[in-house]
Amino acid sequence: MQPRRRTKIVATLGPASSSPEVIEQLILAGMDVARLNFSHGTPDDHRQRVEIVRALADKHQRFVAIMGDLQGPKIRIARFEGGSVELKTGQRFTLSNLHPQDQGNANIVGIDYPSLVQDCHPGDDLLLDDGRVVLRVEEVDEHAVHSIVSQGGPLSNNKGINRRGGGISADSLTEKDKADILTMAQLEVDYVAVSFPRYGADIEQARELVRAAGSKAWIIAKIERAEAVVDDIALDDLVMASDGVMVARGDLGVEVGDARLAGIQKRIILHARTHNKLVITATQMMESMVNSPIPTRAEVSDVANAVLDYTDAVMLSAESASGKYPVEAVRAMDRVCIGAEQEPGTTRSQHRLGETFTRCDETIALAAMYAANHFPGIKAIISFTESGNTPLIMSRIRSGVPIYCYTQHLATQRRTALFRGVYTMPFQPSPANAEPVQKLAITALKEKGLVSIGDWVILTHGENMNRDGGTNTMKIVTVD
Ligand code: PGA
Ligand code: MN
Repeated sequence: MQPRRRTKIVATLGPASSSPEVIEQLILAGMDVARLNFSHGTPDDHRQRVEIVRALADKHQRFVAIMGDLQGPKIRIARFEGGSVELKTGQRFTLSNLHPQDQGNANIVGIDYPSLVQDCHPGDDLLLDDGRVVLRVEEVDEHAVHSIVSQGGPLSNNKGINRRGGGISADSLTEKDKADILTMAQLEVDYVAVSFPRYGADIEQARELVRAAGSKAWIIAKIERAEAVVDDIALDDLVMASDGVMVARGDLGVEVGDARLAGIQKRIILHARTHNKLVITATQMMESMVNSPIPTRAEVSDVANAVLDYTDAVMLSAESASGKYPVEAVRAMDRVCIGAEQEPGTTRSQHRLGETFTRCDETIALAAMYAANHFPGIKAIISFTESGNTPLIMSRIRSGVPIYCYTQHLATQRRTALFRGVYTMPFQPSPANAEPVQKLAITALKEKGLVSIGDWVILTHGENMNRDGGTNTMKIVTVD
């Protein structure tokens, strides 16, 4: 027997998924990571969700990671007198720094981002509400951007603004983000996702604030600006600075145009894996499930394609946060991931065959995967790890062999919930020498029916069990 699914599921919690009943169903349906979207809700809302997730994960002996997602410097229009307006294609419309924030109308609305007038030029396309409304910039003066509506539609309070091609230069971390980082540290989140980072330096800054707040969370860079994907240098700068990336297709699709998105998604996944980083594929994966209990063929195909590209995780946003069928959406993802993983290509590796390794633990991790993929008797890999780095590197390689993470650190136990093909096993620390610990680990797999007598198992560990990056030993043993 083996775990059923290698690809992990991130589900955003929101009004539709905050009760213990729904969260329990999400966990049982296969949620591996719960995402808290700090663009919505109060710190107390998030705190309650975290408490419920942690309690119910414990109850079911599951390791569920928590990801706090910062709002970031999303540029937004202010508000309308009547809450919303209807813009007609061809009409004029003005965004003004001076217009009162609560008194927008069908001709003009306030913005709370003064330097928009410096960043905008005649001929630019501004996309509002994820591209549902498009403005062509005609003229820019000291305080306002004047435009013609090139695609009309309804527009309501506080909708986001993107520019086609990117280049709106807001700082990456806002005052709200800095306060939210403190909340996330208190909640002991396992991952912090940074919205709209421009370069690696934005991620470094976020990491410093996260560490200063006392959190060891890993940092996820959301790839959602056109500048982040203009070339491989820009992309790799963000990839290298982070512990993982998110293909944030909502904003990215608006900035680069939806037609480029699929190719860019594949490039981001490839770059992340090549650099030993995690990658999450996100947004509108099963969007029709906001209102429907079953996904469309196109959505099923989208999830399956991300699995075939070897993403670590697929993500639900509105589907689980505010839709009518949050549990069904997780179940649908679970089913589609498992189906796609039946394809033989997902378990064979072409990865980094021509490269040299830089570290001892990396070398052991990759040697273990080569052995696992080429010796059919091997049914499991057991990795004793401190930080989770060895199973991380292992899981960059395509394989059908499950990687079991044994660690004494709660943070590592939860964190690995996001890694594709990696499963945390409950593990009590023991000061004894390596031998009995290894026996215990194999016995635990046997008791759960994950290996049986006669199977081969690979073990990796460090000679000194308590050192980060200390893995230097690999052993192949039979289960007796
Ligand atoms: P968001 O990020 O859901 O916070 O906007 C993801 C995306 O832009 O796709
Ligand atoms: Mn976004």
